[in-house]
Amino acid sequence: MKRLFIFYLLFISIQINADELLTLHGNAIQGGILIGNVHETVEKIFLDSEEIPISENEFIIGFDRDEKLRHILTLVLENGEMETIKFFISKREYVTQRIDGIPAKYLEEPTEEELITRIESESDTLKKTRKKLYKNSNIYFENFSIPVENGKVTGIFGSNRILNGIPISPHNGYDIAASEGTEIKAMSTGLVALTGNYFYNGKFVLIDHGSGLSSIYIHMSRICVEKGDYIIKGDKIGEVGSTGRSTGNHLHWGVGWRDKKIDPGLILNNKKIFLTLKKY
Ligand SMILES: [Zn+2]
Repeated sequence: MKRLFIFYLLFISIQINADELLTLHGNAIQGGILIGNVHETVEKIFLDSEEIPISENEFIIGFDRDEKLRHILTLVLENGEMETIKFFISKREYVTQRIDGIPAKYLEEPTEEELITRIESESDTLKKTRKKLYKNSNIYFENFSIPVENGKVTGIFGSNRILNGIPISPHNGYDIAASEGTEIKAMSTGLVALTGNYFYNGKFVLIDHGSGLSSIYIHMSRICVEKGDYIIKGDKIGEVGSTGRSTGNHLHWGVGWRDKKIDPGLILNNKKIFLTLKKY
């Protein structure tokens, strides 16, 4: 019944009025995604000069934390005609989070050779897996939901972090604190691309939602899925923990589109119509 309902939603989402060539909805802002629906006469789409795959008249584009603001979308129609749309995304202001008194062991970079080799190999596996999923042009996602309900948000996307007075890289996800064992649910439908127990991430699950969109859930106490599993939005994939480099029980939830870092907080609210292009 659940599956049927999701396919019904998918069917609804690909409807586009006969007089429209393109609708884009979502957040046209740094860290946001836009989901587009195109008329069946649209054969190809390019964002700037990069071709974006279309799956059943639907496509997705995303913008990095510090993405440039001006973009061009080009539609190539089946009769060979082209439509070009120039648009701007909004600039974000990111907060600065200062945390003092963190025990040094949580901040020190490992020096043992064995550990360095392990970290490099884990980072390499993750990078290769992500690269592979950029090429999957299917779309599995439909809508999105928060992976941990009733948790406390302790870290937001994009914030500049100063730990014990030392600036580190900006936070690229969403932290939700909850007690150990709290259910973690998939934010949307997709395929499990990778799981593991890594030095920094601890126990984690990476999900391929199709067309370059991915989500990662890290520091889990327990992983409940395996690579290759087809997961429906809301399915339990693991439990909250503090494995890897973590100072307490929480989920770090990250979202990516290709190699860009997307704000998980924004995709929960992405229904807003940004642009509609009528046929002439
Ligand atoms: Zn985090």
